[in-house]
Amino acid sequence: MIISMRRHATKEEVETVIQRIEEYGYRIHTIQGEERVVIGAIGIGDVTSCLEVLEGMECVDKAVRISAPYKFVSKEFQPHKTVITVAPGVECGGTEFVVMAGPCSVESEAQILESARLVAAGGAKVMRGGAFKPRTSPYDFQGLEEEGLKLLAKARQETGLAIVTEVMSDADVPLVAGYADLVQVGARNMQNFALLKALGKCGRPVLLKRGMSSTIKELLMSAEYVVAHGNSQVILCERGIRTFETETRNTCDISAVPVLHELTHLPVILDPSHATGKRSLVPALARAAVAIGADGLIVEVHPNPAKAISDGAQSLDPALWRSMMKDIKPYMALWAAARQQATLATV
Ligand code: PEP
Ligand code: MN
Repeated sequence: MIISMRRHATKEEVETVIQRIEEYGYRIHTIQGEERVVIGAIGIGDVTSCLEVLEGMECVDKAVRISAPYKFVSKEFQPHKTVITVAPGVECGGTEFVVMAGPCSVESEAQILESARLVAAGGAKVMRGGAFKPRTSPYDFQGLEEEGLKLLAKARQETGLAIVTEVMSDADVPLVAGYADLVQVGARNMQNFALLKALGKCGRPVLLKRGMSSTIKELLMSAEYVVAHGNSQVILCERGIRTFETETRNTCDISAVPVLHELTHLPVILDPSHATGKRSLVPALARAAVAIGADGLIVEVHPNPAKAISDGAQSLDPALWRSMMKDIKPYMALWAAARQQATLATV
């Protein structure tokens, strides 16, 4: 924060202001000008409340925030990229483009095991599948809950894939973190602050999806919640936002990927399935994700999308999944080579 005192403010007034700022935990740096004193406040504190207090003081001319409202997740705080170990040998944010794939929901043992074999054979390193499902209608399938988590664990045991699955409430965090390698926060819960705080203590990396009506700054503030509460392992996910366009389920904000890379050191992945809602559009956006420098992809794949309980229209069928992976493989190799070079250049 920069606090500019009114012209010719008295020594006592400056002292009072400094005292108030220090009460918020900031360190002070003062500059004595010809006509006025300018105070720089450095550190971490309740900036919103502090600014409000200072703006209400007669002797203060202006008080402005100069750094981003998110600190720990910002590039200023940490210039080098965060590399997140999702499971042994699976790193996101490093020199491998990570593909996460699987059905929208865990439906049955046969469905999840078949999906796991299919996505593992195609080159995915992480298997997705929702056991707790956030559905718009309370009458729709809500997920198999713990039974679904057990099936995911079985799929991991059989295939060696890491597991990403959604948690919807803070009360379920210990349960879900007990099974998942990567805990997903869905778009509808991006600003569930009780959940974000609980995830700060969950001991697992978090996949934080952007809310459908949330700005990039709000996404970063939500990530800041998790990090500020003790967990620096957060992967961000662009999954499309709501616009006036109706041809696609959401509008894929592809520019969010490089924007986020400019603002944060956290890895960023793309979800072309929820972004488009149509399986035919997913491969093109998957290519775009690699080309634009995302750290990975999360896609919905189902052994038989026509029978899927949720999100069948956007789920890749086995043939499309295989062809998509074959298609992006050369791009992934180029991506990895570029990342390796960039990593070497920074050492
Ligand atoms: C999902 O991953 O199945 C899901 C519900 O995604 P989102 O939260 O992005 O809508
Ligand atoms: Mn889904």
